[in-house]
Amino acid sequence: MNEPRGDILLPTIGHALAFINELEHSELVGLNPEVGHEEMASLNYAHGLAQALWHGKLFHIDLNGQTGPRYDQDLRFGAGNARGAFWTVDIVENGGYDGPRHFDFKPPRTEDMDGVWESARACMRNYLILRDKVRAFRADPEVQQALRDARVDQLAVPTVAPGESLADLRAEAFDPDAAAQRGMGFERLDQLALEHLYGVR
Ligand code: ZN
Repeated sequence: MNEPRGDILLPTIGHALAFINELEHSELVGLNPEVGHEEMASLNYAHGLAQALWHGKLFHIDLNGQTGPRYDQDLRFGAGNARGAFWTVDIVENGGYDGPRHFDFKPPRTEDMDGVWESARACMRNYLILRDKVRAFRADPEVQQALRDARVDQLAVPTVAPGESLADLRAEAFDPDAAAQRGMGFERLDQLALEHLYGVR
């Protein structure tokens, strides 16, 4: 989606998901998001993959590289937004995706055939480098603590507990001052990710 043209009917992952949900045989239709197309539109590719996975609609991925909102660069994977590539590999490896790790890149026209194969090799190598870093990130006890501090494990917990009624919920006391004291801890978590990406942990 978001193939760069003038006006696109379904320009984002969210538009496509809404469209698919209206189809008679929506189970047959899924998404194939591309790194460059999302990042050209200043969108976050990893977030898009996460949303598509949540809907059970991530059928395929087009991995490549892009540096910000400009023409469709189709750089080799990992050669554009490296931080975005780290989180992309994290969601692909840990978000329940079981499809192919597919690359859709375009070597510069100045390359000869050896350069073209070098570019293909580098896509796979960069993916594997980032996969090692993501595994080390997830295995790091400080990261696991930071994930708990950021309350990531509570995201899927329903507000109403089993056996709890609406009346119970309404009767609960809520202290806005105490709530305002809570930090989310995202800076710590993101910095730990960067330090794994930079190779200092
Ligand atoms: Zn592209």
